[in-house]
Amino acid sequence: MSPPDSAEITSDPAVAVRDVSFRYDSGVTALESISLTVPHGSRLGILGPNGGGKSTLLKLILGLIKPTRGGVEVLGLPARRATRSRQVGYLPQRLNAAWNAPLNVRQVVAMTAALDIPPWRTLPPDVQRRVDDLLDLVGMAHLAGRPIGELSGGQQQRAFIARALVSRPRVLLLDEPTVGIDQAGQAQFARLLEAIHRELDLTILVVSHDLRAIAAGCDDIAVLSRTLHYHAAPEGLTPEVLAEVFHHDIAAFAHLRHGNGHRHGDEDHVTQPPAGENPP
Ligand code: ADP
Ligand code: MG
Repeated sequence: MSPPDSAEITSDPAVAVRDVSFRYDSGVTALESISLTVPHGSRLGILGPNGGGKSTLLKLILGLIKPTRGGVEVLGLPARRATRSRQVGYLPQRLNAAWNAPLNVRQVVAMTAALDIPPWRTLPPDVQRRVDDLLDLVGMAHLAGRPIGELSGGQQQRAFIARALVSRPRVLLLDEPTVGIDQAGQAQFARLLEAIHRELDLTILVVSHDLRAIAAGCDDIAVLSRTLHYHAAPEGLTPEVLAEVFHHDIAAFAHLRHGNGHRHGDEDHVTQPPAGENPP
Protein backbone atom coordinates (compact mmCIF):
# COMPACT_ATOMS: atom_id res chain seq x y z
CA MET A 1 0.00 0.00 0.00
CA SER A 2 1.36 3.40 -0.89
CA PRO A 3 1.71 6.02 1.81
CA PRO A 4 -1.00 8.67 1.98
CA ASP A 5 -0.55 11.15 -0.82
CA SER A 6 0.09 14.34 0.99
CA ALA A 7 2.93 16.60 1.36
CA GLU A 8 0.10 18.68 2.78
CA ILE A 9 -0.83 16.52 5.73
CA THR A 10 1.76 17.47 8.30
CA SER A 11 2.03 16.97 11.99
CA ASP A 12 0.82 20.54 12.46
CA PRO A 13 -2.34 20.70 14.51
CA ALA A 14 -5.41 22.19 12.84
CA VAL A 15 -5.24 25.16 15.18
CA ALA A 16 -2.31 26.23 17.34
CA VAL A 17 -2.70 29.15 19.72
CA ARG A 18 0.64 29.98 21.28
CA ASP A 19 0.84 32.11 24.39
CA VAL A 20 -1.68 34.58 23.04
CA SER A 21 -2.77 37.74 24.80
CA PHE A 22 -5.15 40.27 23.35
CA ARG A 23 -5.94 43.76 24.57
CA TYR A 24 -8.57 45.93 22.90
CA ASP A 25 -7.77 49.58 22.20
CA SER A 26 -10.17 50.43 25.01
CA GLY A 27 -7.62 48.88 27.38
CA VAL A 28 -9.65 45.74 28.13
CA THR A 29 -7.44 42.66 28.23
CA ALA A 30 -9.78 40.07 26.78
CA LEU A 31 -7.30 37.18 26.75
CA GLU A 32 -4.11 36.49 28.63
CA SER A 33 -1.44 33.87 27.90
CA ILE A 34 -3.70 31.41 26.10
CA SER A 35 -2.07 28.32 24.63
CA LEU A 36 -4.02 25.52 23.08
CA THR A 37 -3.69 23.12 20.22
CA VAL A 38 -6.54 21.47 18.38
CA PRO A 39 -5.71 18.24 16.53
CA HIS A 40 -7.02 17.67 13.00
CA GLY A 41 -10.48 16.21 12.92
CA SER A 42 -11.25 16.83 16.59
CA ARG A 43 -14.07 18.81 18.10
CA LEU A 44 -13.30 21.42 20.71
CA GLY A 45 -15.98 23.08 22.80
CA ILE A 46 -15.03 26.51 24.11
CA LEU A 47 -16.98 27.24 27.26
CA GLY A 48 -16.95 30.40 29.32
CA PRO A 49 -19.03 33.17 30.83
CA ASN A 50 -20.21 36.22 28.94
CA GLY A 51 -17.26 38.48 28.40
CA GLY A 52 -14.82 35.59 28.91
CA GLY A 53 -13.09 36.21 25.58
CA LYS A 54 -14.62 33.41 23.50
CA SER A 55 -15.59 35.53 20.50
CA THR A 56 -12.26 37.33 20.70
CA LEU A 57 -10.45 33.99 20.51
CA LEU A 58 -12.40 32.98 17.40
CA LYS A 59 -11.58 36.33 15.77
CA LEU A 60 -7.91 35.73 16.48
CA ILE A 61 -8.14 32.26 14.95
CA LEU A 62 -9.76 33.82 11.89
CA GLY A 63 -7.04 36.45 11.74
CA LEU A 64 -9.62 39.23 11.90
CA ILE A 65 -7.61 40.70 14.74
CA LYS A 66 -3.95 40.25 15.65
CA PRO A 67 -2.70 39.07 19.02
CA THR A 68 -1.10 41.70 21.21
CA ARG A 69 1.33 38.94 22.12
CA GLY A 70 1.89 35.39 20.87
CA GLY A 71 0.82 33.78 17.62
CA VAL A 72 -1.96 31.78 16.01
CA GLU A 73 -1.50 29.21 13.26
CA VAL A 74 -4.28 27.46 11.42
CA LEU A 75 -3.50 24.44 9.25
CA GLY A 76 0.16 25.36 9.58
CA LEU A 77 -0.42 28.86 8.18
CA PRO A 78 -0.62 32.26 9.82
CA ALA A 79 -4.29 32.67 10.78
CA ARG A 80 -5.12 35.31 8.19
CA ARG A 81 -3.70 33.30 5.34
CA ALA A 82 -5.67 30.21 6.25
CA THR A 83 -8.88 32.26 6.29
CA ARG A 84 -8.06 33.94 3.00
CA SER A 85 -7.50 30.56 1.41
CA ARG A 86 -11.11 29.79 2.43
CA GLN A 87 -10.08 26.84 4.53
CA VAL A 88 -11.86 28.18 7.58
CA GLY A 89 -15.64 28.37 7.81
CA TYR A 90 -17.18 30.74 10.35
CA LEU A 91 -20.61 31.16 11.85
CA PRO A 92 -20.52 34.48 13.69
CA GLN A 93 -22.33 35.03 16.95
CA ARG A 94 -25.95 35.57 16.06
CA LEU A 95 -27.22 39.09 16.06
CA ASN A 96 -30.81 39.52 17.01
CA ALA A 97 -31.46 41.43 13.83
CA ALA A 98 -34.08 39.65 11.77
CA TRP A 99 -33.18 38.49 8.32
CA ASN A 100 -35.49 40.41 6.02
CA ALA A 101 -33.35 40.17 2.91
CA PRO A 102 -35.47 39.07 -0.05
CA LEU A 103 -33.41 35.93 -0.49
CA ASN A 104 -34.45 32.33 -0.34
CA VAL A 105 -32.51 29.69 1.55
CA ARG A 106 -30.63 28.42 -1.50
CA GLN A 107 -29.53 31.96 -2.38
CA VAL A 108 -28.28 32.59 1.15
CA VAL A 109 -26.27 29.38 1.12
CA ALA A 110 -24.84 30.17 -2.31
CA MET A 111 -23.79 33.69 -1.30
CA THR A 112 -20.28 32.70 -0.22
CA ALA A 113 -19.79 30.45 -3.20
CA ALA A 114 -20.92 33.25 -5.45
CA LEU A 115 -18.27 35.66 -4.21
CA ASP A 116 -15.94 34.87 -7.08
CA ILE A 117 -18.71 34.82 -9.60
CA PRO A 118 -20.25 37.97 -11.11
CA PRO A 119 -23.88 38.38 -10.00
CA TRP A 120 -25.22 38.21 -13.57
CA ARG A 121 -23.77 34.74 -14.06
CA THR A 122 -25.62 31.66 -12.91
CA LEU A 123 -23.73 29.40 -10.54
CA PRO A 124 -21.64 26.70 -12.19
CA PRO A 125 -23.24 23.24 -11.94
CA ASP A 126 -20.63 21.97 -9.47
CA VAL A 127 -21.37 24.84 -7.08
CA GLN A 128 -25.11 24.27 -7.49
CA ARG A 129 -24.59 20.63 -6.65
CA ARG A 130 -22.45 21.50 -3.65
CA VAL A 131 -25.15 23.86 -2.37
CA ASP A 132 -27.83 21.20 -2.81
CA ASP A 133 -25.72 18.56 -1.07
CA LEU A 134 -25.17 20.87 1.88
CA LEU A 135 -28.84 21.78 2.08
CA ASP A 136 -29.49 18.06 2.24
CA LEU A 137 -26.86 17.54 4.93
CA VAL A 138 -28.31 20.26 7.17
CA GLY A 139 -31.86 19.03 6.57
CA MET A 140 -33.00 22.11 4.70
CA ALA A 141 -33.48 20.76 1.18
CA HIS A 142 -37.28 20.90 1.50
CA LEU A 143 -37.11 24.59 2.45
CA ALA A 144 -34.57 25.63 -0.18
CA GLY A 145 -37.00 27.90 -2.01
CA ARG A 146 -38.45 29.59 1.10
CA PRO A 147 -37.53 33.19 1.98
CA ILE A 148 -34.94 33.06 4.76
CA GLY A 149 -36.89 35.61 6.82
CA GLU A 150 -39.87 33.26 7.09
CA LEU A 151 -37.94 30.52 8.87
CA SER A 152 -37.44 29.80 12.55
CA GLY A 153 -34.18 30.75 14.25
CA GLY A 154 -33.04 27.13 14.23
CA GLN A 155 -33.78 26.72 10.53
CA GLN A 156 -31.96 29.94 9.68
CA GLN A 157 -29.01 28.78 11.71
CA ARG A 158 -28.84 25.54 9.71
CA ALA A 159 -28.89 27.52 6.49
CA PHE A 160 -26.03 29.71 7.76
CA ILE A 161 -24.03 26.63 8.68
CA ALA A 162 -24.50 25.27 5.17
CA ARG A 163 -23.29 28.62 3.88
CA ALA A 164 -20.17 28.40 6.05
CA LEU A 165 -19.43 25.00 4.50
CA VAL A 166 -19.74 25.87 0.83
CA SER A 167 -16.06 26.70 0.37
CA ARG A 168 -15.10 23.24 1.68
CA PRO A 169 -13.34 24.52 4.80
CA ARG A 170 -11.19 22.16 6.83
CA VAL A 171 -11.86 24.04 10.04
CA LEU A 172 -15.31 25.21 11.13
CA LEU A 173 -15.77 27.86 13.83
CA LEU A 174 -19.21 28.29 15.39
CA ASP A 175 -19.87 31.13 17.82
CA GLU A 176 -22.80 30.45 20.18
CA PRO A 177 -24.75 28.57 17.53
CA THR A 178 -27.56 27.49 19.85
CA VAL A 179 -28.44 30.77 21.51
CA GLY A 180 -32.08 31.51 20.84
CA ILE A 181 -32.86 27.92 19.94
CA ASP A 182 -35.17 25.85 22.15
CA GLN A 183 -34.15 22.60 23.78
CA ALA A 184 -35.52 20.34 21.07
CA GLY A 185 -33.68 22.49 18.55
CA GLN A 186 -30.49 22.13 20.55
CA ALA A 187 -30.67 18.34 20.49
CA GLN A 188 -31.27 18.48 16.76
CA PHE A 189 -28.34 20.82 16.41
CA ALA A 190 -26.05 18.40 18.28
CA ARG A 191 -27.03 15.67 15.82
CA LEU A 192 -26.35 18.02 12.95
CA LEU A 193 -22.83 18.71 14.19
CA GLU A 194 -22.28 14.96 14.46
CA ALA A 195 -23.35 14.50 10.87
CA ILE A 196 -21.18 17.36 9.62
CA HIS A 197 -18.19 16.02 11.47
CA ARG A 198 -18.75 12.52 10.16
CA GLU A 199 -19.48 13.44 6.55
CA LEU A 200 -17.02 16.24 5.98
CA ASP A 201 -14.08 15.25 8.16
CA LEU A 202 -13.63 18.68 9.66
CA THR A 203 -12.03 20.14 12.73
CA ILE A 204 -14.81 21.90 14.63
CA LEU A 205 -14.54 24.62 17.29
CA VAL A 206 -17.82 25.51 18.89
CA VAL A 207 -18.27 28.30 21.43
CA SER A 208 -20.94 28.33 24.08
CA HIS A 209 -21.65 29.72 27.50
CA ASP A 210 -23.81 26.66 28.14
CA LEU A 211 -22.06 23.39 28.90
CA ARG A 212 -25.07 21.28 28.02
CA ALA A 213 -25.12 22.74 24.57
CA ILE A 214 -21.68 21.38 23.70
CA ALA A 215 -20.39 18.74 26.13
CA ALA A 216 -21.85 15.66 24.47
CA GLY A 217 -20.51 16.35 21.02
CA CYS A 218 -16.97 17.45 21.86
CA ASP A 219 -13.74 15.55 22.31
CA ASP A 220 -12.27 18.32 24.46
CA ILE A 221 -13.52 21.33 26.33
CA ALA A 222 -11.59 24.55 26.82
CA VAL A 223 -12.87 26.72 29.63
CA LEU A 224 -12.07 30.34 29.01
CA SER A 225 -12.47 33.36 31.22
CA ARG A 226 -9.70 35.73 30.19
CA THR A 227 -7.25 32.94 30.98
CA LEU A 228 -7.56 29.27 30.08
CA HIS A 229 -8.93 27.46 33.14
CA TYR A 230 -9.24 23.99 31.71
CA HIS A 231 -8.47 22.15 28.49
CA ALA A 232 -9.14 18.41 28.39
CA ALA A 233 -11.94 15.88 27.98
CA PRO A 234 -15.42 17.01 29.15
CA GLU A 235 -15.53 14.22 31.75
CA GLY A 236 -12.72 15.79 33.74
CA LEU A 237 -14.48 19.09 34.16
CA THR A 238 -15.25 19.62 37.84
CA PRO A 239 -17.97 21.72 39.49
CA GLU A 240 -15.12 23.69 41.10
CA VAL A 241 -13.76 24.85 37.75
CA LEU A 242 -17.25 25.76 36.58
CA ALA A 243 -18.00 27.67 39.77
CA GLU A 244 -14.70 29.49 39.49
CA VAL A 245 -15.32 30.81 35.99
CA PHE A 246 -19.07 31.29 36.13
CA HIS A 247 -19.35 32.88 39.54
CA HIS A 248 -20.13 36.27 38.06
CA ASP A 249 -22.40 34.92 35.38
CA ILE A 250 -25.49 33.96 37.35
CA ALA A 251 -27.66 33.05 34.36
CA ALA A 252 -25.21 30.60 32.86
CA PHE A 253 -24.33 29.14 36.25
CA ALA A 254 -27.99 28.59 37.06
CA HIS A 255 -28.29 26.65 33.82
CA LEU A 256 -25.36 24.48 34.75
CA ARG A 257 -26.58 23.78 38.24
CA HIS A 258 -30.16 23.11 37.24
CA GLY A 259 -29.28 21.38 34.02
CA ASN A 260 -31.80 18.60 34.44
CA GLY A 261 -34.63 20.67 35.76
CA HIS A 262 -34.25 23.10 32.93
CA ARG A 263 -37.47 24.58 31.62
CA HIS A 264 -38.23 24.14 27.98
CA GLY A 265 -37.87 27.33 26.01
CA ASP A 266 -35.48 29.14 28.38
CA GLU A 267 -33.00 29.69 25.59
CA ASP A 268 -35.45 31.92 23.85
CA HIS A 269 -34.76 34.49 26.51
CA VAL A 270 -31.03 34.17 26.80
CA THR A 271 -29.46 37.56 26.45
CA GLN A 272 -25.86 38.58 26.43
CA PRO A 273 -25.38 41.43 28.86
CA PRO A 274 -22.26 43.46 28.21
CA ALA A 275 -19.40 42.36 30.44
CA GLY A 276 -19.40 44.26 33.69
CA GLU A 277 -23.17 44.49 33.81
CA ASN A 278 -23.70 41.03 35.18
CA PRO A 279 -25.09 40.85 38.68
CA PRO A 280 -22.37 40.25 41.26
P1 ADP B 1 -17.41 36.39 24.99
O1 ADP B 1 -17.55 36.11 23.55
O2 ADP B 1 -16.83 35.28 25.78
O3 ADP B 1 -18.70 36.85 25.61
P2 ADP B 1 -15.81 38.64 24.10
O4 ADP B 1 -14.65 38.04 23.41
O5 ADP B 1 -16.89 39.18 23.26
O6 ADP B 1 -16.37 37.60 25.18
O7 ADP B 1 -15.30 39.82 25.03
C1 ADP B 1 -14.19 39.69 25.91
C2 ADP B 1 -13.93 41.02 26.59
O8 ADP B 1 -13.52 41.97 25.61
C3 ADP B 1 -15.15 41.62 27.27
O9 ADP B 1 -14.72 42.29 28.42
C4 ADP B 1 -15.68 42.58 26.24
O10 ADP B 1 -16.38 43.62 26.86
C5 ADP B 1 -14.41 43.06 25.57
N1 ADP B 1 -14.63 43.42 24.16
C6 ADP B 1 -15.18 42.65 23.20
N2 ADP B 1 -15.22 43.28 22.02
C7 ADP B 1 -14.66 44.50 22.24
C8 ADP B 1 -14.38 45.62 21.40
N3 ADP B 1 -14.67 45.61 20.09
N4 ADP B 1 -13.79 46.70 21.97
C9 ADP B 1 -13.47 46.71 23.27
N5 ADP B 1 -13.71 45.69 24.12
C10 ADP B 1 -14.28 44.59 23.61
MG1 MG C 1 -19.19 36.07 22.32
